[in-house]
Amino acid sequence: MTVDAGAVTPIPDTKPETVEATSSDGARPGAELAAGIPVPVKKRAVPEGYDAPQANLVLRSDRPAKDYFGAADGPAPLKARAIGSYAKGCLAGGSVLPPDGPTWQAMRLSRNRNWGHPALIDYLKDLAADAPKAGWNGLLVGDLAQPRGGPMTSGHASHQIGLDADIWLTEMPNRRLTPEEREEISAISMLKGPLDVKGADRRVDPAKWTDTHARLIRHAASDNRVARIFVSPTIKKALCEFETGRDREWLRKVRPWWGHHYHFHVRLSCPPGSTGCKDQNPPPPGDGCGAHLTYWLSDEPWVPKEPRKPGEKPKVVKKRPMALAALPQDCRTVLTAN
Ligand SMILES: [Zn+2]
Repeated sequence: MTVDAGAVTPIPDTKPETVEATSSDGARPGAELAAGIPVPVKKRAVPEGYDAPQANLVLRSDRPAKDYFGAADGPAPLKARAIGSYAKGCLAGGSVLPPDGPTWQAMRLSRNRNWGHPALIDYLKDLAADAPKAGWNGLLVGDLAQPRGGPMTSGHASHQIGLDADIWLTEMPNRRLTPEEREEISAISMLKGPLDVKGADRRVDPAKWTDTHARLIRHAASDNRVARIFVSPTIKKALCEFETGRDREWLRKVRPWWGHHYHFHVRLSCPPGSTGCKDQNPPPPGDGCGAHLTYWLSDEPWVPKEPRKPGEKPKVVKKRPMALAALPQDCRTVLTAN
């Protein structure tokens, strides 16, 4: 298998992903997903004209789209539509995931990212309801999308059209977390240690990873609405070993990616009737437990070619923020609708 490692810069687990992806042939890790570990939101930069009512908003094509979308506090009151592609689009008629449900709790509420296409909210409620059947107490839900989707002010390149959701690999406790706890509690990494060291043991930590984690992800992936689930390659490996049954089709959807050892990332297919919503190509056939995974678990994607000098930071490719002009035209309507 040809794997184009040059398409990506290995990015340490703590840095947000900078690779933009809108489609995938499955063979190039860099084309698979653009998402990363959520980082705290800085004070929002409010662009000029944003104090004005939404309809009078002055939109400049050359401005970073994240400034506009990051400043929108509520959803666009339009018919629900995922517009564009996962890492280049926006969301009309977004629904909110309530902070609390019987078997879920939304985290990091200050970010106001618990918005999604109604199909995503329905999916999450169904998954939460089924979680106890898998032996999982309930979901702690991380970032979905901003109220009107679009590029985020920090942390992710995808999550733009309301069809992506991060779910913690930490079980919901038996009590309601306070708003403060939801800001401060950290999820638990499933890794044994750092991955970017030559010869690192790239397996999950058996003291943290359990079959219940595996059952939850299997259940999440087996749903027809799901296009892909992104996990750390270490977790993909554990799932490949966990599944001893004959039906390995769900594993096809579970894709290795940077980060994603504190949470898994569910991506739904475009809901029926979503004109202007662009699906990714389906993952390549097979369970994905072969050569592609072996590559991901090797030193190749993780260890810098030239050893870093002590104290030297890894190189991260900085991309210019996406301008409003890069998004589908309908995203302007999404911004100004009120
Ligand atoms: Zn994510």
